[in-house]
Amino acid sequence: MSIFARKQKRVYLDYAAAAPIRAEAQEAMLDAMDFFGNPGTINKDGVNAKKLLESSRVKVSEVLGARAKEIVFTSGATESNNIAVFGGVFAWMADNAGKKPHVIVSRIEHSSVLEICKHLEHKGIAEVTYLEVSSEGIVDVKKLREALRPETVLVSVIYASNEIGVIQPIREIAKEIRHYKKHVLGNHESKYPLLHTDASQAPLYEDINLQTLHVDLMTLSSEKIYGPHGVGMLFVRTGTKLEKIIMGGSQEFDLRPGTENIPGISGFAKTLELAVTERESESARLREIQNYCFSELEKNFSGKFIVNGSRESRLPNNVNITFSNFDSELLVIELDAKGISVSEKSACNTEDTESYVIESLRSSDTGSIRISFGHTTRKNDIDCIIKSLQEIFSKYSTLSNKAV
Ligand code: PMP
Repeated sequence: MSIFARKQKRVYLDYAAAAPIRAEAQEAMLDAMDFFGNPGTINKDGVNAKKLLESSRVKVSEVLGARAKEIVFTSGATESNNIAVFGGVFAWMADNAGKKPHVIVSRIEHSSVLEICKHLEHKGIAEVTYLEVSSEGIVDVKKLREALRPETVLVSVIYASNEIGVIQPIREIAKEIRHYKKHVLGNHESKYPLLHTDASQAPLYEDINLQTLHVDLMTLSSEKIYGPHGVGMLFVRTGTKLEKIIMGGSQEFDLRPGTENIPGISGFAKTLELAVTERESESARLREIQNYCFSELEKNFSGKFIVNGSRESRLPNNVNITFSNFDSELLVIELDAKGISVSEKSACNTEDTESYVIESLRSSDTGSIRISFGHTTRKNDIDCIIKSLQEIFSKYSTLSNKAV
């Protein structure tokens, strides 16, 4: 059990933003702190640190069904996404002088993918197709097929949305790209288009084994899976060319310079291993809580809210809803005052007033709240948020009646 779970007084329903570090990961980090040597040196302390680093790499690769040399440790998902997208585009450009690369992404990617694409466009470096999603929040594979071109370098589709929890058909997308290579490009061995997925929200609930996922690049973040903050990884399939985008060292297969964060990486490796062993039971437990939450919402607020994104193709820990006629920011603040943590939109987009993810489902974002579950969540937390919502709505209806 994490220290957070033991000390918890508030109702924490914001696991998609950050999960508390689990005790096993903390222990692994503490043990690793004794290995202070620099893994880049040849003295005994450095060699011992390097051994621990490499054992974490092997552990992660085994969990994911990858090879150890395909795992690049980073400072988190944002960095992994930057290395994947910029790195992939720049490497293609180096081999295709004078041609303009083309990138395809969904409209509901995390900002760390979308902002790169906008930057590439604005600088005139690349052309980008932003794939619309259905009203359920799902990418249409047919639209992807239509968007593919000979200069398409990279397709990036988020595995599961950090906002609405909707799971994308990554295996189908991979199949479509394989079909395109074979039947349109006439070369089933073509490296391009590369397929990247940001799977940061997926490992606790979805199968991300790379033997069957058929992606070339995959991003993970430690903090979303009860590991330490500031650690992540990028899977780079053997044969995938990436240009280095951070200069200053040759660590991590010359893709991510800088001294490796050995305690962080050890904590991440431990938590990823546990995520996979506990996946089935925890998914089933949270699916039950999710169903309970939806049915309680329906029972108490029927006709007053809408569910954002598919109910079926959805992570078991995500409920994202819009209450018509109630400001979502105010709702988050009122719930917070009652000791309940939920979110309005992605914590990475605090500057924007509206969520582009919700806007992609319908023409405008009328505000939404994301309730996301994790280890400490029980049915009584749902009872608690339902009761609090009733109190908040009742307070504001009294206020508006008085104002009238
Ligand atoms: N991608 C997704 C899907 C995320 O949920 C997040 C965290 N909000 C990130 C990327 C960024 O992660 P990090 O903080 O590890 O850079």
